[in-house]
Amino acid sequence: MSRRSIRFRGVIKNGAAIEFFGTMIPSLLLFKRDPHAWWKRWRARQGRNRQPLPSLDRLLNRPDDTGRVGETHIFIFKWQSDVFDLDAFHDSHDFLLDLERVLRAQGRRYRLYTSLSPKTNLPELAAAAGLGDLSPFGLLIHRRFGPRMLIVGVEVEGGLPIHQPEHNGVGCTDCGLCLRLCPQAPEASGEVDLRKCEGCGRCITCCPVGKSAAT
Ligand code: SF4
Ligand code: SF4
Repeated sequence: MSRRSIRFRGVIKNGAAIEFFGTMIPSLLLFKRDPHAWWKRWRARQGRNRQPLPSLDRLLNRPDDTGRVGETHIFIFKWQSDVFDLDAFHDSHDFLLDLERVLRAQGRRYRLYTSLSPKTNLPELAAAAGLGDLSPFGLLIHRRFGPRMLIVGVEVEGGLPIHQPEHNGVGCTDCGLCLRLCPQAPEASGEVDLRKCEGCGRCITCCPVGKSAAT
Protein backbone atom coordinates (compact mmCIF):
# COMPACT_ATOMS: atom_id res chain seq x y z
CA MET A 1 0.00 0.00 0.00
CA SER A 2 1.35 3.42 -0.86
CA ARG A 3 1.74 6.02 1.81
CA ARG A 4 -1.17 8.32 2.57
CA SER A 5 -3.69 6.19 0.72
CA ILE A 6 -5.50 5.15 3.89
CA ARG A 7 -9.20 5.97 4.12
CA PHE A 8 -10.33 7.33 7.47
CA ARG A 9 -13.70 6.56 8.98
CA GLY A 10 -15.30 8.12 12.05
CA VAL A 11 -13.81 11.58 11.45
CA ILE A 12 -15.48 14.11 13.75
CA LYS A 13 -16.62 17.01 11.59
CA ASN A 14 -18.23 19.18 14.25
CA GLY A 15 -15.59 21.88 14.84
CA ALA A 16 -17.22 23.20 18.02
CA ALA A 17 -17.30 19.70 19.53
CA ILE A 18 -13.64 19.13 18.65
CA GLU A 19 -12.61 22.39 20.32
CA PHE A 20 -14.84 21.85 23.35
CA PHE A 21 -14.02 18.23 24.12
CA GLY A 22 -10.43 18.54 22.92
CA THR A 23 -9.83 21.31 25.45
CA MET A 24 -11.98 19.95 28.25
CA ILE A 25 -10.50 16.46 28.26
CA PRO A 26 -6.85 17.60 28.65
CA SER A 27 -8.01 19.97 31.38
CA LEU A 28 -9.73 17.14 33.25
CA LEU A 29 -6.72 14.88 32.76
CA LEU A 30 -4.42 17.52 34.20
CA PHE A 31 -6.76 17.96 37.17
CA LYS A 32 -6.73 14.22 37.76
CA ARG A 33 -2.94 13.97 37.50
CA ASP A 34 -2.04 17.03 39.54
CA PRO A 35 -4.83 19.22 41.01
CA HIS A 36 -2.27 21.79 42.19
CA ALA A 37 -0.80 22.21 38.69
CA TRP A 38 -4.34 22.47 37.28
CA TRP A 39 -5.21 25.14 39.84
CA LYS A 40 -2.04 27.14 39.04
CA ARG A 41 -2.82 27.07 35.30
CA TRP A 42 -6.44 27.98 35.89
CA ARG A 43 -5.51 30.94 38.15
CA ALA A 44 -2.90 32.15 35.68
CA ARG A 45 -5.43 32.05 32.85
CA GLN A 46 -8.05 33.93 34.85
CA GLY A 47 -5.57 36.67 35.70
CA ARG A 48 -3.83 36.71 32.34
CA ASN A 49 -5.38 39.94 31.08
CA ARG A 50 -4.23 41.78 34.21
CA GLN A 51 -0.60 40.69 33.73
CA PRO A 52 1.89 42.89 31.84
CA LEU A 53 2.15 41.98 28.18
CA PRO A 54 5.06 39.62 27.49
CA SER A 55 7.59 40.90 24.98
CA LEU A 56 7.12 39.39 21.53
CA ASP A 57 10.78 38.29 21.47
CA ARG A 58 10.51 36.29 24.69
CA LEU A 59 7.15 34.89 23.68
CA LEU A 60 8.45 33.61 20.37
CA ASN A 61 11.24 31.77 22.18
CA ARG A 62 8.77 29.51 23.99
CA PRO A 63 8.07 26.98 21.19
CA ASP A 64 10.62 24.24 20.54
CA ASP A 65 10.62 24.87 16.79
CA THR A 66 9.03 27.18 14.27
CA GLY A 67 8.36 27.27 10.57
CA ARG A 68 6.62 29.56 8.13
CA VAL A 69 4.42 29.27 5.07
CA GLY A 70 3.59 32.71 3.67
CA GLU A 71 2.02 34.70 6.48
CA THR A 72 1.30 31.59 8.55
CA HIS A 73 3.72 30.68 11.31
CA ILE A 74 3.79 27.17 12.71
CA PHE A 75 4.93 26.50 16.27
CA ILE A 76 6.00 23.15 17.68
CA PHE A 77 5.81 22.13 21.34
CA LYS A 78 7.61 18.87 21.93
CA TRP A 79 6.40 16.18 24.29
CA GLN A 80 8.68 15.27 27.18
CA SER A 81 7.69 11.63 26.93
CA ASP A 82 6.50 8.97 24.54
CA VAL A 83 2.82 9.59 25.25
CA PHE A 84 0.53 12.60 24.92
CA ASP A 85 2.09 15.37 27.02
CA LEU A 86 -0.53 17.37 28.91
CA ASP A 87 2.00 20.04 29.83
CA ALA A 88 2.98 20.58 26.20
CA PHE A 89 -0.72 20.85 25.33
CA HIS A 90 -1.35 23.47 28.00
CA ASP A 91 1.92 25.30 27.20
CA SER A 92 0.86 25.60 23.57
CA HIS A 93 -2.59 26.82 24.63
CA ASP A 94 -1.13 29.43 27.00
CA PHE A 95 1.32 30.51 24.32
CA LEU A 96 -1.54 31.27 21.93
CA LEU A 97 -3.45 33.16 24.64
CA ASP A 98 -0.40 35.39 25.21
CA LEU A 99 0.29 35.76 21.50
CA GLU A 100 -3.29 36.87 20.98
CA ARG A 101 -2.93 39.53 23.69
CA VAL A 102 0.22 40.90 22.05
CA LEU A 103 -1.21 40.92 18.52
CA ARG A 104 -4.41 42.52 19.70
CA ALA A 105 -2.45 45.23 21.53
CA GLN A 106 -0.49 45.86 18.32
CA GLY A 107 -3.73 46.19 16.36
CA ARG A 108 -2.68 43.39 13.99
CA ARG A 109 -5.06 41.20 11.98
CA TYR A 110 -4.52 37.56 12.83
CA ARG A 111 -6.05 34.11 12.96
CA LEU A 112 -4.94 31.60 15.57
CA TYR A 113 -4.79 27.86 15.00
CA THR A 114 -4.94 25.71 18.12
CA SER A 115 -3.74 22.13 17.96
CA LEU A 116 -7.43 21.23 17.65
CA SER A 117 -8.28 23.55 14.74
CA PRO A 118 -10.71 21.33 12.85
CA LYS A 119 -10.69 23.03 9.45
CA THR A 120 -6.94 23.56 9.09
CA ASN A 121 -4.61 20.70 8.40
CA LEU A 122 -1.72 21.75 10.63
CA PRO A 123 0.43 18.69 9.85
CA GLU A 124 0.27 19.56 6.13
CA LEU A 125 1.12 23.18 6.82
CA ALA A 126 4.01 22.15 9.07
CA ALA A 127 5.31 19.80 6.38
CA ALA A 128 5.05 22.61 3.82
CA ALA A 129 7.08 24.77 6.22
CA GLY A 130 9.88 22.18 6.12
CA LEU A 131 9.41 20.97 9.70
CA GLY A 132 9.08 17.32 8.75
CA ASP A 133 6.80 15.22 6.62
CA LEU A 134 3.65 13.20 6.94
CA SER A 135 3.29 9.70 8.34
CA PRO A 136 1.13 7.14 6.53
CA PHE A 137 -1.63 8.23 8.95
CA GLY A 138 -1.21 11.91 8.10
CA LEU A 139 0.56 12.84 11.34
CA LEU A 140 3.45 15.25 11.20
CA ILE A 141 6.73 13.43 11.73
CA HIS A 142 8.90 16.27 12.91
CA ARG A 143 12.54 16.07 11.86
CA ARG A 144 13.79 15.98 15.46
CA PHE A 145 10.79 15.07 17.61
CA GLY A 146 9.03 12.59 15.35
CA PRO A 147 5.27 12.43 16.05
CA ARG A 148 5.77 13.42 19.72
CA MET A 149 4.86 17.09 19.61
CA LEU A 150 1.94 19.48 19.27
CA ILE A 151 1.41 21.94 16.46
CA VAL A 152 -0.22 25.35 16.77
CA GLY A 153 -0.07 28.32 14.43
CA VAL A 154 -0.99 31.87 13.61
CA GLU A 155 -1.70 33.63 10.35
CA VAL A 156 -0.80 37.26 10.81
CA GLU A 157 -0.76 40.15 8.41
CA GLY A 158 2.85 41.08 7.65
CA GLY A 159 4.23 38.05 9.49
CA LEU A 160 6.26 37.89 12.70
CA PRO A 161 9.95 38.68 13.23
CA ILE A 162 11.14 35.11 13.64
CA HIS A 163 14.56 33.93 12.59
CA GLN A 164 13.86 30.62 10.89
CA PRO A 165 16.08 27.90 12.32
CA GLU A 166 17.86 25.34 10.18
CA HIS A 167 15.73 22.24 9.82
CA ASN A 168 18.11 19.31 10.14
CA GLY A 169 17.23 15.64 10.43
CA VAL A 170 14.76 13.50 8.57
CA GLY A 171 11.06 13.03 9.04
CA CYS A 172 9.22 9.83 8.22
CA THR A 173 11.63 7.26 6.81
CA ASP A 174 8.86 5.10 5.36
CA CYS A 175 9.92 2.18 7.56
CA GLY A 176 6.28 1.02 7.71
CA LEU A 177 6.46 0.00 11.38
CA CYS A 178 3.39 2.03 12.36
CA LEU A 179 1.36 0.37 9.62
CA ARG A 180 2.47 -3.11 10.62
CA LEU A 181 1.78 -2.58 14.34
CA CYS A 182 -1.60 -0.87 13.96
CA PRO A 183 -4.22 -3.27 15.38
CA GLN A 184 -6.63 -2.23 12.62
CA ALA A 185 -4.28 -3.71 10.00
CA PRO A 186 -4.61 -0.86 7.49
CA GLU A 187 -2.15 -2.50 5.13
CA ALA A 188 -4.74 -5.18 4.47
CA SER A 189 -7.98 -3.21 4.78
CA GLY A 190 -6.81 0.15 3.45
CA GLU A 191 -8.72 1.99 6.13
CA VAL A 192 -8.68 3.10 9.75
CA ASP A 193 -11.68 3.83 11.94
CA LEU A 194 -10.65 6.74 14.14
CA ARG A 195 -13.30 5.79 16.73
CA LYS A 196 -11.23 2.70 17.48
CA CYS A 197 -8.03 4.67 18.07
CA GLU A 198 -8.98 5.81 21.57
CA GLY A 199 -6.44 4.67 24.14
CA CYS A 200 -4.13 3.16 21.50
CA GLY A 201 -1.50 5.54 20.13
CA ARG A 202 0.70 2.66 18.99
CA CYS A 203 1.47 4.44 15.70
CA ILE A 204 3.06 7.22 17.77
CA THR A 205 4.88 5.24 20.44
CA CYS A 206 6.44 2.84 17.94
CA CYS A 207 7.86 5.50 15.59
CA PRO A 208 11.66 5.50 15.86
CA VAL A 209 12.02 9.08 14.62
CA GLY A 210 12.80 11.44 17.52
CA LYS A 211 12.48 8.77 20.20
CA SER A 212 15.63 9.95 21.97
CA ALA A 213 14.38 13.57 21.96
CA ALA A 214 11.32 12.67 24.06
CA THR A 215 13.01 12.83 27.45
S1 SF4 B 1 6.97 4.36 12.13
FE1 SF4 B 1 8.15 4.53 10.22
S2 SF4 B 1 6.59 4.76 8.57
FE2 SF4 B 1 5.59 5.16 10.54
S3 SF4 B 1 5.71 7.40 10.76
FE3 SF4 B 1 7.48 6.52 11.86
S4 SF4 B 1 9.15 6.54 10.35
FE4 SF4 B 1 7.23 6.82 9.22
S1 SF4 C 1 -3.98 4.93 17.18
FE1 SF4 C 1 -3.73 2.69 17.10
S2 SF4 C 1 -5.54 1.99 15.97
FE2 SF4 C 1 -5.35 4.19 15.57
S3 SF4 C 1 -4.15 4.37 13.69
FE3 SF4 C 1 -2.70 4.48 15.42
S4 SF4 C 1 -2.01 2.36 15.74
FE4 SF4 C 1 -3.87 2.27 14.48
